[in-house]
Amino acid sequence: MKQEYFIEAEAGQAFKMKKGQTVRVIDVEGEQVVDFVVYKDGDLTERIDPGVTMDALHSYKVAPGDILYSNKYHPIMTVVEDDVGVHDFFNPACRPEMYELLYNKKNHPSCYDNLSQALEPYGLSQPDQYYPFNIFMNTVVEDNGAMKVKRPLSKPGDSILLRAEMDLIVGVSACPCSESECNGYNCTPIKVEVE
Ligand SMILES: [Zn+2]
Repeated sequence: MKQEYFIEAEAGQAFKMKKGQTVRVIDVEGEQVVDFVVYKDGDLTERIDPGVTMDALHSYKVAPGDILYSNKYHPIMTVVEDDVGVHDFFNPACRPEMYELLYNKKNHPSCYDNLSQALEPYGLSQPDQYYPFNIFMNTVVEDNGAMKVKRPLSKPGDSILLRAEMDLIVGVSACPCSESECNGYNCTPIKVEVE
């Protein structure tokens, strides 16, 4: 049985997955970043961890077959298919304070608020921060250490397919940042299919 979620631009969603199920995250119109967080169902102290994943893979890029790890160094998801191949493991979820610091805007919608709203019914009270797997986010690291967020390489309909390696609670946010190249200056919807 397939569950589908259409997530409007600048919105969030949460859902459960059983071990062995897959989730396809689809960039409907292209150039849209999806902040993707995952918690172990039954133990919210275990979550997807981009830092641990880079540590375990010795890489900040993933390819089909690669495992995404939890903060407790357990396999939490596996990349099955990937149309784009460029995602971000460096950046935390955007939050209102980020928009204040970088763009001088107050009360801006954010992935932090989207995820918190979506995950609250699953028992997750607002954490100090989210460290998502930022799907389709194109962060370029230069030799001198400079980090630049460029337009995503995802085209309309591009997707990534991930398999759950344990029972999970998943939160997704269609990143509401229209101030930078991050989402191509235009926030658009995403689609998620679980089966
Ligand atoms: Zn965001």
